[in-house]
Amino acid sequence: MKAFPARFVFTVLLCGLAVPFPLHAQNAPPRSIAITIDDLPAGTANLMTGAEIVEMTTKLLGTLKDQKVPAVGFVNEQKLYKPGEVDDRIKALNLWLDNGFELGNHTYAHTSLNRVPLRVWEEEVIRGETVTSLLLAQHKMKMRYLRHPYLDAGRDLQTRREAEAFLSSRGYQIAPVTMDAWDWMYAGVYHEARKRGDAALQKQLVESYLSYTTTVFDYYEKLSRDLFSYEPKQILLLHGNWIEADHIGELIDLLRKRGYQFVTLEDALGDPAYSSPDEYVGEGTGWLDHWAITRGHPPQNEPVFPQWVIDKSRELHRQAAPPPAAN
Ligand SMILES: [Zn+2]
Repeated sequence: MKAFPARFVFTVLLCGLAVPFPLHAQNAPPRSIAITIDDLPAGTANLMTGAEIVEMTTKLLGTLKDQKVPAVGFVNEQKLYKPGEVDDRIKALNLWLDNGFELGNHTYAHTSLNRVPLRVWEEEVIRGETVTSLLLAQHKMKMRYLRHPYLDAGRDLQTRREAEAFLSSRGYQIAPVTMDAWDWMYAGVYHEARKRGDAALQKQLVESYLSYTTTVFDYYEKLSRDLFSYEPKQILLLHGNWIEADHIGELIDLLRKRGYQFVTLEDALGDPAYSSPDEYVGEGTGWLDHWAITRGHPPQNEPVFPQWVIDKSRELHRQAAPPPAAN
C-alpha cells in the first residue's frame, strides 16, 4: 500500500476537525432536475401482460409519489392495442393521471423523424394523441409535451424547423433531454433475470446502472458548467420498465446526494439554457450535446457504456425478436 506523506495526513485531519459539515454538502451547488419516463405504457410492453404493466406502473408511481418527485410520462399509443388487454393498458396510463402525474406524446409507433418523410411523422404525432388526449381531458388537462423518439429531432435544419413549427401549431412544447444513462439497455436483461428469479444478475445490473448514472452525471454536469458557467435545470430520460419500478428509489437517493431537487418539466424548461441557439441535426442525442456542437465544440471523451450489458442485451434479442425500442 502506498503511504501518504505525514504532512498530507495531518492537513486532512486538521481540515476534518475544522469543517463541521462534509465538504461536498457545503460546497454542493443548487441543482434541479425534472424526471421524464418514455415508451409508456411500458418500454418492455411486448414482454408483458396488461395486468403486469398495471403492477409495474403502480410500483413505479408509488415510489415517485412517496418521494414527492414529479414526472411526465410519454406514450406510444400503438402499445395499447393488444387483443384482450386494451383496458388494462389504458388503466396503466390512467394511473399516471389519477396520481397527479402528467402524460405527453411520444408518437403513435415510436417513429423517428429522421427516418420517414415529415408529413408521415406528423401523422404519427396526431395518431398518438387519440387516447391520451381523451384521458387528459377527463383530468382537465391538455397534451402539451412531445418527446422525439430516439431523440431524433430532424435530419436537416429545414425538417427540424418545420417539425417545430408543426408541433407549436398543435400546442406542443418539445421535451428535451440532458441526462440519459440508457436504462432501456438494461431493461430487457433485467426483465428476463427478474422473471427467472436470478437475483445475482439483477443486483449486478442495478449496480452497473447506478454506477453508469454517476459517470453520466459527472460528465454532463461538467459539460453544463463549461457551456453555461452554471448547471441548468436538467431533464432526465428514463423508461417505463421493471428496473425503474424496482429501483427508482435508489436512483432518487443517488441524485439527492448530488444535491438535486426534483422539479416539474415546466419548471425545468423555464431555464434560459433551453432557449439557447440549437442548430443540431443528425443522429439523436442529448441537448447538452446539441448546444456544444452548435457552438462548434463537439463533446470529447463521452462516457463509455458497459460493454457486457450491451452483449447480454444482444444475446437476449437474438433469442427473442423483435428488438427493443431505444429511447
Ligand atoms: Zn422512446
